[in-house]
Amino acid sequence: MQKLVLIGGGHSHAIALKMCADNPLKNVKIVLINDVEKTPYSGMLPGYIAGYYTIEQTHIDLQKLAKKSQTKLIIDQVIDINTTQNTVTCSSGKIIPYDFLSIDIGSTPDKSNIKGAKEYATPAKPVPTLLEKWHNILDNCRQKPQENITLNIIGGGAGGVELALNMRQQLINIIDQEKVTINIINRGSKILSQHNQTASNIFHNLLIDKKINLYLNTEIVQILPHKIISAQSKEIRGNYHFLVTNSSPAPWLQKTNLSLDKKGFILVKNTLQTLSHDNIFATGDIATIQNYPRPKAGVFAVKQGKPLYNNWRLLLKYQKPQPYHPQSLYLSLIGTGDKKAVAIWGDFAWLSRFFWFFKNYIDQKFMQQF
Ligand SMILES: Cc1cc2nc3c(=O)[nH]c(=O)nc-3n(C[C@H](O)[C@H](O)[C@H](O)COP(=O)(O)OP(=O)(O)OC[C@H]3O[C@@H](n4cnc5c(N)ncnc54)[C@H](O)[C@@H]3O)c2cc1C
Repeated sequence: MQKLVLIGGGHSHAIALKMCADNPLKNVKIVLINDVEKTPYSGMLPGYIAGYYTIEQTHIDLQKLAKKSQTKLIIDQVIDINTTQNTVTCSSGKIIPYDFLSIDIGSTPDKSNIKGAKEYATPAKPVPTLLEKWHNILDNCRQKPQENITLNIIGGGAGGVELALNMRQQLINIIDQEKVTINIINRGSKILSQHNQTASNIFHNLLIDKKINLYLNTEIVQILPHKIISAQSKEIRGNYHFLVTNSSPAPWLQKTNLSLDKKGFILVKNTLQTLSHDNIFATGDIATIQNYPRPKAGVFAVKQGKPLYNNWRLLLKYQKPQPYHPQSLYLSLIGTGDKKAVAIWGDFAWLSRFFWFFKNYIDQKFMQQF
C-alpha cells in the first residue's frame, strides 16, 4: 500500500479530503499532519472578528474530516522534509515516511524588514495567534470600557482593510466609538493596490466615513510596545499592533531541496507537482505556479482542491497528471464590517448590502460541506 502524506490542513487539502470521503482513493494510506485540530476558513474570519459568526462556523474540524475520509490525523508541526529518504520531520521529533507528499501550509505576513515585529506585533496569521490576541483585547475592553484604545494595522491590502473595518465594528459594540482609534499604515500610495481603482476608492471613502485613519506612503521599520516608527521617523502611537503585510513562506522550506521561487514559495508546474519532485505536490498560498502569477488568496487555494485530488488519483494509478489553468478573472467579496460587502470583478467594484448576503450564503455553503 502506498502512503500519501499531507502537510497542512489548508483550503485545498480540506476540499481534496472531502472528495476522498465521497470517492475514496484505492490502495493508499492517507496521513494528514496539521499543527492545529481546527483549521480556519479565511472567507469568514473577518466576520468572526466582527462578532457575526462562532468559532465552529468559521473553522473546519479536521478530526471529523479525517474520520470521514479515512485519514490518519497527526497534530504536529512539520519542520523539515528529506527528499532523499522520503521523510517528513515534525517538531515533536517524529519522522514520517511518505511515497507521495502534498503541501498546503499557507503563508504568514512578512515581518523580515521590521525591527521588533516578532516581539511586539501580532501577525494576521497563524490565525490562532491572531484570535488569542483579539480575545484578550475584547476581554480588556469589557473590563475597562472607560479606557481609550488604539490599534495600528500595518498593511493596507484587502486583508488589512477588512480586518480594520471588522475590528472596529466589534469594538464599538463594547465601548464608545469616540474611544476607539484605528490606524491603517500602508507603504504604497493607495490601499488595495492589487485590486482596481474603483475598489480602492470605495474602501478609501469607507475608511474616512468610519473615522479610520489612513497613513499612506508610510513604511514601518520599527515596532515598540506603544508606538511604531516609519522610515521617515514618524511615530504612531498605539496599544496593539497588527501585521497584515505581504505573504511570506515558511523559512524551514529553505533547508529542503524543493524547487522554490525567488521569495521562497514552492515552485510548482500547472499539474501542482513541484518542479523538483514529481511525487510532491504543493497548493494554496505556499505554492507559486510557474507561468501563472496569481495573488495569494483563499479563492485560489479552494479552486486547487479538485485538480489536486484528481492528480493524486492519477499519479497513484501511475497515470499522467492533468494540467490545471488558474483563472485570471475571479470574484472577490470583501466585507465592510457592517453587513455590507464590496464585490470586485475585473475593473468592476460595487458596495452593497446584497453582496454581504451573497457572500454569507457562499461562505456558509462552503462550510456546510464539512
Ligand atoms: C485577515 C485576512 C482575511 C482574508 N480574507 C480573505 C478572503 O476573504 N478571501 C480570500 O480569498 N482570501 C482571504 N485571505 C487570504 C487567505 O487567508 C489565504 O489566501 C488562505 O488562507 C490560503 O489558504 P491555504 O490553503 O494556502 O492555507 P491556510 O488556510 O493558511 O491553511 C494552512 C494550514 O496549515 C497549517 N500549517 C501551517 N504550517 C504548518 C506546519 N509547518 N506543519 C503543520 N501544519 C501547518 C496551518 O495551521 C493551517 O491550518 C485573508 C487573509 C487574512 C490575513
